[in-house]
Amino acid sequence: MASSEEGEVGNLVVIVIDVNPVWWGKQIHAEQQKLTLSKCMDAVLVFINSHMMMDRRNKVAVIASHTNESRFLYPRKSKGGEEAEEQKDGEEPQKADGRYEVFAAINDLVSEELKALVRDNPTVSHTDTLLAGSLAMALCYIHRVEKECPVGEKMESRILVIKAADDSASQYMNFMNVIFTAQKQSVLIDACILDKDSSLLQQACDITGGKYLKIPTVSGLLQYLLWVYLPSPSLRESLNLPPAVHVDYRAACFCHRTLIDVGYVCSVCLSIFCTYSPICSTCHTAFKIKGAPTKLLKKKKRSSAMASIT
Ligand SMILES: [Zn+2]
Ligand SMILES: [Zn+2]
Repeated sequence: MASSEEGEVGNLVVIVIDVNPVWWGKQIHAEQQKLTLSKCMDAVLVFINSHMMMDRRNKVAVIASHTNESRFLYPRKSKGGEEAEEQKDGEEPQKADGRYEVFAAINDLVSEELKALVRDNPTVSHTDTLLAGSLAMALCYIHRVEKECPVGEKMESRILVIKAADDSASQYMNFMNVIFTAQKQSVLIDACILDKDSSLLQQACDITGGKYLKIPTVSGLLQYLLWVYLPSPSLRESLNLPPAVHVDYRAACFCHRTLIDVGYVCSVCLSIFCTYSPICSTCHTAFKIKGAPTKLLKKKKRSSAMASIT
């Protein structure tokens, strides 16, 4: 294989699962209930096992993105800062039920940690999933794993987001920073959308070269995971995968965090505003314009202090 000649040591997939209790709670009361969190987790565990089976050097990490916190479900941090995974190397614990012990250890730990996460968060303070924070954690983890790689070897890393709840415009800035960091670190972001389209993730996938897919039937989640997201990015070109989607490139204004088509951009710090303001609230630059320019004028003359974006 070409990949082994290049000195790669397998693939690392960091799976970020949206476990927003508000969204998953609604699914229980939905008319035709098709997917529950436990069914979703089953599909994810099968995906993890399949990924580990592809190559013995493959690695996986799972992060749950809750409304209150982001938490690693796997690997677990032990007291000394070492991963539980490392301690298991060498000894081969025998599972009584005949499961392959590496898979059994991952599956048990993920389920256990998820239960603990739900138990520790009986109430929710707000309804948005902390996705930007979870992605930042994923990037930090990838950075660490890549640094620990022996010299000359490279880990091919990617992030898979399983997104349930709606986008949160208040996280726009953090989200964009994470996306550009991922692009710089050449970490691919894949997104598997269970509910409404996410313009933030569309942009993330487009910028980093990942695959964005809003799955048509949630009950078939496992099939989509195995078909679209299991093959490594280098193999995807030779597969006939769903076509790329039209990307919604609207930006969120810095004043109200709503997505806008046309707005004002500060010529100094590039902050975006939906309404004209003589002083930029981000960098406090005062613009030497008497009154707001009309839309027509703005389009013709971009040299004025506040230019328009389309
Ligand atoms: Zn605004
Ligand atoms: Zn500014």
